[in-house]
Amino acid sequence: MIEIKGVHKSFGDLEVLKGIDLDVKKGEVVSIIGASGSGKSTLLYCINAIEAINGGQILVDGVDVHDKNTDKNQLRQNLGMVFQQWNSFPHLTVLENAALAPQVVKGFSKEKAEEIATKELTHVGLGDKLHEYPTKMSGGQQQRLAIARALAMDPPYMLFDEVTSALDPELVGEVLDTLRLLRDDGMTMICVTHEIAFAKEVSDKVAFFHKGLIEEMGTPQQVLENPQKERTKQFLSKVL
Ligand code: ADP
Ligand code: MG
Repeated sequence: MIEIKGVHKSFGDLEVLKGIDLDVKKGEVVSIIGASGSGKSTLLYCINAIEAINGGQILVDGVDVHDKNTDKNQLRQNLGMVFQQWNSFPHLTVLENAALAPQVVKGFSKEKAEEIATKELTHVGLGDKLHEYPTKMSGGQQQRLAIARALAMDPPYMLFDEVTSALDPELVGEVLDTLRLLRDDGMTMICVTHEIAFAKEVSDKVAFFHKGLIEEMGTPQQVLENPQKERTKQFLSKVL
């Protein structure tokens, strides 16, 4: 599981995370919602050690992420991450893009890496696009490629940061369908999202971030349908 305990993070004088406590158990889907600038992305970067923290602790399967003795590359193999936009390698095919990391990071043979990548690309519905170039694909297909590419590393955890925010509205559905598929596979996921209806449907737990703190956390029913805090109500009234 992922255990986040009292995490503080500052950029210079700006305190962005002011004591975040959050547990994500195996098989759980946790959605993080909240206004722009509330610290959602920063928390994801702290979980996979792209950013250092100034206080508290993050454990992934009991391993202290920010301990100086922790092998960060090893750690990141356990945390697949998909961003709002991912720039694929334009000179590589869809299959070559998805098969790259297993070869470079895990040292798999090209054949083995392409076998794994083909399986994941097929799983996200890109089985007929293996030999195309990503630049020819729609934004939704490119995001599904980004998801397949992360899955090809076989991580036990996936972190999603607003993966549908840059998409045209008609392409959002196919990417959310892919996330539903992963949820049904039992994947443990943290999803930063503005898709409230989606969060309501798939999450075991929803955390509402406000200015670097979790203002309210609970089941989707509790937080999204029956929020107790005024700030949560205000936020939901703006985005729903
Ligand atoms: P969210 O994802 O909720 O929109 P972020 O985590 O991206 O919020 O950002 C939280 C705050 O931290 C913002 O005020 C942002 O400007 C600031 N911030 C994020 N990254 C950096 C950075 N590398 N250096 C300085 N400030 C940053
Ligand atoms: Mg963000």
